[in-house]
Amino acid sequence: MPKKRAPWSTRRYLVLAGAVLTFASVAMITGIYARTVPTVSADVTMSRGEPASTSWEKPAWAVWPLPQNRVAAQMEPPDLTLVPQPLPPPAAVPVVPPTPPSVSPAAAVPAAVLGPTSPAWRLNAGKASADDGRPMIAILIDDVGVARQNAELAIALDAPVTLSFMTYASDAPAQVAAARARGHEIMLHVPMEPLDHREDPGPNPLAVGLAPAELSRRIVWSLGRFDGFVGINNHMGSRFTADPDGMSMLMEALKRRGLLFVDSRTTASTVGTEMARRHGVPTASRDVFLDNEVDTGDIEARLAETERRARAQGAAIAIGHPHPETIATLRRWIPQAQARGFVLVPVSAVVARGLTD
Ligand SMILES: [Zn+2]
Repeated sequence: MPKKRAPWSTRRYLVLAGAVLTFASVAMITGIYARTVPTVSADVTMSRGEPASTSWEKPAWAVWPLPQNRVAAQMEPPDLTLVPQPLPPPAAVPVVPPTPPSVSPAAAVPAAVLGPTSPAWRLNAGKASADDGRPMIAILIDDVGVARQNAELAIALDAPVTLSFMTYASDAPAQVAAARARGHEIMLHVPMEPLDHREDPGPNPLAVGLAPAELSRRIVWSLGRFDGFVGINNHMGSRFTADPDGMSMLMEALKRRGLLFVDSRTTASTVGTEMARRHGVPTASRDVFLDNEVDTGDIEARLAETERRARAQGAAIAIGHPHPETIATLRRWIPQAQARGFVLVPVSAVVARGLTD
């Protein structure tokens, strides 16, 4: 009997050894594959736990810290030199539903009028005086949130202004909360491709010629940076805002989320407001740039032009930046303009007025 069992044991050991070898080979191949093939995921909660790297752009942008609970991984686009992964078609990109944001303590409309189905631009609107026929001026300060000290100057302004925070602003949720607590309306300032490629719009800019899936990914990334804003305006974008296809995709995303669009008008060829209206997105256009020249005399002249436009049109939107000169000039000008009969309103009030005209 023992003589018969010995060869059977040997065969059994051989079979077991074969199985172990097969398992080891499969595990090794799977391991190599996992290390070499990048994964493309639209999961906004995913984080690789490593500093964001944007080797495809100026590395300087990579130093901006991003909100920890956000999409650090999406700062890093897939390395296109590696094995190409099929991107999901545009329809497959997850669409963040227009979740009703928390109502600002400075909500413009009485709470009874608002409900869970109200669009985000109404729910997040800053407080506005009732439209009593006085000419309205909306001061929109953009490029906010990168230079922290300048942002604090703008937040400290003692009148309702609208602050548009960069998508890559550091610690944006905390800065946004501070601005909202001061009664300012919040917008999101989205980098878009300029005509002059020597200008760097920042990470993940919306650009002409991107595959629809990549443009969609960048739109989702941009709109998911923080909450509590009424809508977006373009940072740069003299090329992108003139592109009907790209702007159409952007407007679809804004419409789904109940957001408004302010056209900064960085080019005369912009199709921004036209595409917004076509998609049912509440919209308005910038009338005056306050500080293309960062000079107090120049800024005062642009504010006087803003007053003229507001008297002629009933409302005007002036865009400035959080330069100390701009903020100091605004601090002096605001009470004077109010004494001359102008009413300072958040941008959403000018948009709302346009809807009723
Ligand atoms: Zn800008």
